[in-house]
Amino acid sequence: MYKIHECDFLPKDGVSIVFSDSIINSDEAVWNLIIEREAIDEDLEDNHNLENVGDTIWQTVLEIYNCPFCSQTLSSDRVKNAAGNFAHINLSSWNSKRL
Ligand SMILES: [Zn+2]
Repeated sequence: MYKIHECDFLPKDGVSIVFSDSIINSDEAVWNLIIEREAIDEDLEDNHNLENVGDTIWQTVLEIYNCPFCSQTLSSDRVKNAAGNFAHINLSSWNSKRL
């Protein structure tokens, strides 16, 4: 299960909103705000573990119910104090780490 929230109000780069059950460990698919930093040329010079421009260096994921940019409701089955699971994944070294 994988869906993308198409949104005119998203920041240009590095932020996306995705419905999936495999980003944050969750029994059910949830909407996730993903903030990520992609490698540019200088990053490849500094870090030999990165191979290509556009490789993800790190990613932070937060479970959400609404789009914070256009306010659209993404999930109508809200449960009090249930959303808000988050993860930070560092992919900048050969052994990527979920922190
Ligand atoms: Zn939106």
